[in-house]
Amino acid sequence: MNRRNILKALALLPLSAAAMKLKELRLLTDLMPATQVMPVLFVGHGSPMNAIEDNDFNRQWRKIGASIPKPAAVLCVSAHWETKGTFVTAMEQPRTIHDFGGFPKALFDVDYKAPGSIWLANETQQLVKSASLGMDESWSLDHGAWSVMKHLYPEADVPVIQMSLDVKGDTRYHYNLARELAALRRKGVLIVGSGNMVHNFSYMQMPSGGFNVPFGHDWALEANETFKKLIHENDAEALINFKQYSTALKLSAPTPDHYLPMIYALALREKTDNLSFFNDAVVGGSFSMTSFVLSS
Ligand code: ZN
Repeated sequence: MNRRNILKALALLPLSAAAMKLKELRLLTDLMPATQVMPVLFVGHGSPMNAIEDNDFNRQWRKIGASIPKPAAVLCVSAHWETKGTFVTAMEQPRTIHDFGGFPKALFDVDYKAPGSIWLANETQQLVKSASLGMDESWSLDHGAWSVMKHLYPEADVPVIQMSLDVKGDTRYHYNLARELAALRRKGVLIVGSGNMVHNFSYMQMPSGGFNVPFGHDWALEANETFKKLIHENDAEALINFKQYSTALKLSAPTPDHYLPMIYALALREKTDNLSFFNDAVVGGSFSMTSFVLSS
């Protein structure tokens, strides 16, 4: 039965709101013309101080937020929420989690008051078939999410949920899981991966000008360039198997947490998407701030 016939059949139903079941309402919703395809963002979030400093990186975040269509809600995959199994935050008002230590009080004072979205948590849970998504009522927003959201949407007027990273899944598992979220782009949802494509604390080195002064070890600069090339070529296989690609790429992600949010963004790329990099820089010796937006 095609869309027109389904609409005809629905038109013959007694249109009493009381009789219309939730399932039918969902069908109607699904039949609404797909309007805009929302962009997808991968943001290299770097230091938590980017939440409160005024610098080139977060000025670019604000520009991006102002330049893309305002979403109905945001689903953020943050490097800082790892769980056994996959969860989505499902609360009306998430808290601002200060999941770090050793930073100024001003950072602990940040309270980003964006609402949650039970609607989006439910939509996400229903879309994903390969895993059983749990509804989480305890996590809220970690700094991987709010330090970026605070600049994308300073008015905190866009609902935000987070989706966790299942520690049991390998890179390919996460790539495939992310692809199941594709329909959200046509429901006004902005999907944001927040991590760093190069992120290795063992090689951290602070230049005299401060953490955000562009400075990278040779291998980190090489990895940054290689990642951009592979993303530009849309070479998903190489990006999934990045540890086999070169020593530089292997060094870039000794743990998967900051790399996987990029895989979520890449997996949502469609043929019609344009790719645009921003904040292309390596800082602190071994952290890439390089970010990208995919937009149709
Ligand atoms: Zn981080």
